[in-house]
Formats: sequence, structure tokens, C-alpha cells
Amino acid sequence: MTAAVFALAITAAVPVTAHAQDSPAPECPANLDCRFVPAAYDWSSADHSDPNNYGNYDPANRPADGQQIQYIVIHDTESLPNSTVSPYDQAIATFQKPESGSSAHYVIRSSDGQVTQMVPTKDVAWHAGNWTMNEHSIGIEHEGIAAQGGTWYTEQMYRASANLVKYLAAKYHIPLDREHILGHEDISRERTKNFAAAHWDPGPYWDWAHYMDLLGAPVKATGSPGSQVVTIKPDFAANQPPMTSCDPAGTCTPLPAHGANFVYLHTAPDEASPLLTDPVNHPDGSAGTTAIDDWGDKAVTGRSYALAGEQGDWTAIWYGGQKAWFANPGHHATVPARARQATASSSVPLYGRAFPEQSEYPADIPFDPIWTVGAIPWTLPAGQSYVVTGEFRAENYYARFDPASVPANHTLVTGATTYLQLSYNHRLVYVKASDVQVKPC
Ligand SMILES: [Zn+2]
Repeated sequence: MTAAVFALAITAAVPVTAHAQDSPAPECPANLDCRFVPAAYDWSSADHSDPNNYGNYDPANRPADGQQIQYIVIHDTESLPNSTVSPYDQAIATFQKPESGSSAHYVIRSSDGQVTQMVPTKDVAWHAGNWTMNEHSIGIEHEGIAAQGGTWYTEQMYRASANLVKYLAAKYHIPLDREHILGHEDISRERTKNFAAAHWDPGPYWDWAHYMDLLGAPVKATGSPGSQVVTIKPDFAANQPPMTSCDPAGTCTPLPAHGANFVYLHTAPDEASPLLTDPVNHPDGSAGTTAIDDWGDKAVTGRSYALAGEQGDWTAIWYGGQKAWFANPGHHATVPARARQATASSSVPLYGRAFPEQSEYPADIPFDPIWTVGAIPWTLPAGQSYVVTGEFRAENYYARFDPASVPANHTLVTGATTYLQLSYNHRLVYVKASDVQVKPC
């Protein structure tokens, strides 16, 4: 979850059929304290004139139905504690209410790492705010509040989570690297509507380097010195960039010094230069800020980018259509990487998801306008390079609630377009493969 405002994650999604509330055995490693509490799958209280109005997930048969499970998405619950109900219990209660319109496969407790599974992994939970990502991922909520200095991210929780992720990765052959073990913040909204509401959990205090160590897959060099691609990796404990927390009125207060997982990006190789802006966070073109949720000027541990220049102790990467500079004395904030890169000879559009074209839907599936393939407010400018993190065929898992009266319910619709997933800025985006040239490693 985790939005700029503390609301639970709402994932735009589509519906389905059969019932999974009869699935009591949790999918967990044997040595984990783990239980199953079913998320709601119900539309009894919903306005049935809207076919998307039900909760909280879609039954599916992944991966046998063609929806490969390729990603684990790390969230934090962002539910505020009150005197009687913990954030952990609040998140679980939220996913039990059909009107919430959100769910995750698992929720993990901060104090002791207890795991509650709520959606079977074969089903599509509504957690990523992005249908392509929901189709292809397992979502794990961690009890906590991202702006509270990492106090919620206990060692017990990190270890339980890593234990669970190792089990799931082995079960579904998910590579244990930062291209497949993602934060919600690595994921773009899927279309321009509500684009600015993209969540930023688990945030700067999630210790990715430590977490990847626990997974037995440390963030490390995959290329040689002099490589044209770098992976971000500041020293978490020593890296304590200034950050602020801002209320809705715009009053910002400094956050206490604390280890963090990102480097600040500047417009020039100079600490005094403005922080990088982003048209989503700053529609007026103003500079980026130190606000914890201003993700457009922060590059996070484990993410890889193409080099755009070096000057003295400063390194530049291509990031969000801009040349982004960060202080990198002795290259202590990066390791060299190896990756395919996409470039374009003229500016090309980017997409938030990999969906089929309208003409590719079968006649028995009524086309919903929200599936219209549309570019997002970012572009890939000519001459810049971006790391290719995946390749997707266009697909959309068609799902409605009522199984009896909905023809073709729970159908995976595929299209002819191949999309490439790119490490674009703080987030991953999609580009049509035919729009770019790909440089091999
Ligand atoms: Zn989230």
C-alpha cells in the first residue's frame, strides 16, 4: 500500500468466478508461523451496474492459465495504529471487507514475523495498482508506516518475509534479484488517470541490501568496471540523506537522521543544483524536494540504469527522460552492472501496462474503455538509454464477478504486440519493442 495520503491500496481491476474461500492451508514454508484468513470475494453489497464493483481479488489458475508468476511485490500496510487495533489486524480486516477493493496474498506482522495468507497464489490479488503487474505477481504486505524511520521493519519481519519469498521463488521459478523482487514503488500506475496516486511503499527505510542478503541474493556487481550500466547501492547505515514529511497543507518537518536506501538525483554535478523534477509530482515544473514521498528525485538500491556521464565525484544516469546526477565518490554508491539497453532514434511513447489492442478482444468479451491502450505522461527521448528489465506479450486477464451469467469470464486475452519493460525512473514502464533498438549486454 502506501500512498501520499495514508489510504489503503486500491487497485483498479476486473472480476471473476469460482470461490477460493474454501482454501484453508497456507502456502508457506514449514518453519514459518503462518495461517490462512480468506480475503473477501463478494459483491453482495456492491452496485451491480458497475462490473468492476466487487472485492477483493480474482480467482485464476496461475500459472497453468498462462499467467506466469514472475514477481514478488513488497508493500507496507500504511494503516495507522490506534489504541485497539494494530496495523496488522487493520490490514487483515480491510482485505476481509469486499468494499475495500484491495487485497494482498500475504500480510506479515512487525513484532514477530507472523504470516497471514489471504489470497491463494494461483489467484490474482489486487495490490499493485497495475493490472499487468497484478497478473504476474504475488503481493506481500508488511505491517508498518513507511515514514516512521524503519521502526516497523524489524529483523523478525525481514527474516520471515525473506523465508516466505525464498519459498515462493522456488515454487514459481522467480529469479531472486531486484528485477523480480520489487517494491510497490517500483511499479507505475497503468494509465494516466490517477497517475499521481502511485504508491511509494515500502519507501526509503526498507533495507533492500539487507533483505537481498537474507534472500541469499546480495545486490552485487554483475558487470566489469567501466561498464555502461550501474546498479544503485549506497551503504544503508551510513547513507542518511535529509528527508522531510509534509502534511496535505504543504507544511514539511524534517525526519530524524536514519539509514536510507536511495541517492538524491540532481540536475547538475553540484550539491547546490536543484533536485530532479518529475511532471507527475511537480506539474508546474518546480524542482524535486526532500519530501519522503517525492520519489522522482530518488534512485533506489538494486535498480540499474544506463550511464549518461561522469564528472569528478559525480555520476550521471538516464532517469525519467533526464540526465540525473548523483554524488558517487569512489563509486561507493554504485556497482557496475550488465544489462540490455533500449534506445530510440526519435522520442517514443511509454505505457504503464502491456495490454492488447481493442481489435484483439474476442467478440464475447465486451470491450471496457478502461482497457484502452494509452501512453502515460512520460516518454523515451531520442538518444537516451534505458535498461531492459523484461519482455511481455500483450495480455489482459478478463475477469468479472458473476460466474454464471458472464460469458468468457476468466479468460486470458492476448495480443500480438511485444512490450519491453524498462527501468525508466523510480518506476518500471513499458515500451513497444518495435519502437526501440536494443543494445545487447
Ligand atoms: Zn503498496
